[in-house]
Amino acid sequence: MSNASGLDTPVQFIKGVGPRLGAVFNSRDIRTVKDLLTFFPRAYEDRTKILTVAELTEGNTATTAIEITGTRLMRTRQGRSILEARAKDATGTMTLKWFHAPRGMAEKFIPGTKIIVTGLVKLFMGRPEIVHPEITWNAGTADLADGSNVNAGRVVPIYVELEGIPSRTFRKILWEALSKYGSLWSEDLPTRLREAHQLPPMADAVRAIHFPEEAPGGAKVDTQAMVDFNTPAHWRLVYEEFLKFEYLILKQRLRMEKLAAEKFPLEGARKAAASLSAKLPFELTGDQKKAVDEILEDLSAPHPMNRLIQGDVGSGKTAVAFLASGAVLAEGAQVALMAPTEILAEQHFKNAQRLFGGTLNCALLVGKTTAAERAPLFARLAAGEPMLLIGTHALIEEPVIFKNLAFVLIDEQHRFGVEQRRTLKSKGVRMIGDTKLFPHTLILTATPIPRTLALTAYGDLAVSTIRELPPGRSPVKTKVLRGEARQQAFEHIRLELKKGHQAYFIYPLVNESEADGFTHLKNAVAEADRLQREVFPEFKVGLLHGQMRPDEKAIVMDRFKRGEIDVLVSTTVVEVGVDVPNATVMAIEHSERFGLSQLHQLRGRVGRGSAVSYCFLFANVRLGELTATRLEVLEETTDGFKIAEADLEIRGPGEFLGTRQAGGLTFRLAQLVRDREWLLKARDDAHAILSEDPDLLNPEHQPLRTYFEREGGLQFERLKTS
Ligand code: ADP
Ligand code: MG
Repeated sequence: MSNASGLDTPVQFIKGVGPRLGAVFNSRDIRTVKDLLTFFPRAYEDRTKILTVAELTEGNTATTAIEITGTRLMRTRQGRSILEARAKDATGTMTLKWFHAPRGMAEKFIPGTKIIVTGLVKLFMGRPEIVHPEITWNAGTADLADGSNVNAGRVVPIYVELEGIPSRTFRKILWEALSKYGSLWSEDLPTRLREAHQLPPMADAVRAIHFPEEAPGGAKVDTQAMVDFNTPAHWRLVYEEFLKFEYLILKQRLRMEKLAAEKFPLEGARKAAASLSAKLPFELTGDQKKAVDEILEDLSAPHPMNRLIQGDVGSGKTAVAFLASGAVLAEGAQVALMAPTEILAEQHFKNAQRLFGGTLNCALLVGKTTAAERAPLFARLAAGEPMLLIGTHALIEEPVIFKNLAFVLIDEQHRFGVEQRRTLKSKGVRMIGDTKLFPHTLILTATPIPRTLALTAYGDLAVSTIRELPPGRSPVKTKVLRGEARQQAFEHIRLELKKGHQAYFIYPLVNESEADGFTHLKNAVAEADRLQREVFPEFKVGLLHGQMRPDEKAIVMDRFKRGEIDVLVSTTVVEVGVDVPNATVMAIEHSERFGLSQLHQLRGRVGRGSAVSYCFLFANVRLGELTATRLEVLEETTDGFKIAEADLEIRGPGEFLGTRQAGGLTFRLAQLVRDREWLLKARDDAHAILSEDPDLLNPEHQPLRTYFEREGGLQFERLKTS
């Protein structure tokens, strides 16, 4: 057989599989020998120790070698058949028991037959008993010596049960597959790297994960480490997966760096930013200054910037973005800032006007901008007037044509699809002479990106981080509340309102029709009504949600800003942007249904003034369930990065990237949080490879090259930010 038929052999050709099991495997995407060999155990059982019957104790899973002495078939009054087999060893007797014994089962227990059994031991009238034991037939302790028994005398793997395929069958099939094909793995990892990290060859690693061996006289197999994916064999697989990924994403970054962009000389850019900065009613924080400088530095290079700026809500990212925009406008080029909602786009526009008193030339384009307003705006853009155009999706619509869009900013990028982002950028691609110029890109996000994601999903981006909040903010006191405790919280909220402060109440649903099976969830429309009538009759309650028309939303938001509404009931539409310093209470119902990062963002809506603010997280879960959502993380810290890491661990990358994009991050074995350390190593090594041998021409990189040629980088395509 040719080499291709080795690990690529269809799984049904493995001895013991056949068409029926083959179909079960196929239905779970296990199609080839390779797929099967990388279907790893979910747990292990230490069966290295064979106990005597006398040593069996109640409540423990044990393995013992015994001899059959007889059987007995009984029927319960309900007509169920029970099979009992009696067995013994030199130290005592025991019973094995089956309910609904299959036909012909009893006949197999011929007195004198030697078997090894494993199962949970119970004592019944003082005698050990195992119900439905796992059996190795015709085997005694002496048969375990050569290590060829897959079910006893070793640490045995336990697999997820696929449609009733017992672990025992699985074990046998894997043993077969390993002995026939297990040595056929080719090495994609350069030996140099494998040795530097003291990792085993692929074939050894895969074998060790299925059937860990105790080195003669060596340490015992650490089953916990095995389950935790924390042995050299596991590291080997994780590292390889990360290395391949990091190579691709860093290569993408190099590719960007080869493209051309308009450059804005540093000297002039700094001057322009400084003169704008002088107009600000506040002093920039150190982190803001640093971010501005990093951006200007990028803008001065002859290739497109691809940068992410991350910082909590209110950390002042927008101000930074404006200053950088100003530097570009000063050189006569155009800038576009796309925000996910009209409220946000309008707020950015108003801020730009307010902060710089008209010295920053900007315009607003949103869905409701009238045709009469659009025509002259489009004419100015087409004529090349240097301006900052702020808007929503409206920016990427057909008729918007820029003459020289050199800088593109995207706020809350995870709210946009890859296509939308590309469309906006494509509006900035232009020919100058023979050179194709690409726009510089800056992405703004208030969801701190865990470092692991910054290195993977955002690995083709440079990152600026704003950790420092502007002065005068007060930390928000956060409390998770269940059941009775909510009453006290309401009284506290009443006190805050009496002081003239304002409150947000956030609900997961707009109205009943959205409930769709989740009828126990409270909705904003009904609760706004109830809060007004029953809870806060002496205050004014207002309602804001995503199904309202933009103009209706704007009216409510304005009234809240002016203090005409005391309690704003809303869904997560207030999540981004809204800035009302007098609001001191954020109350969130069904907080268990939100991601931690999302809650953290909501919490960022308060604590914007000098008064102490409060965040009440109402959780409608029973005691034990609370730990599963880890809401207490929010009580303990306001560090957005810690929260983001916890969120990533609990909910996966979809929270940060949007589900579709996160699909590109599906590693087969590696996990971002658990395997962070290996990610960092892989990252460094990929870097080194790309600087020494970017096209993998070196013979020791040949296997990697072949791998990329064969497998491409499809999953990875979805992640690219440009
Ligand atoms: P973000 O976009 O990061 O949520 P913004 O840029 O909208 O934050 O800033 C939030 C608020 O803080 C705005 O009202 C802004 O004018 C103000 N602000 C920004 N930077 C500073 C600073 N260094 N000192 C004081 N206030 C600031
Ligand atoms: Mg913002």
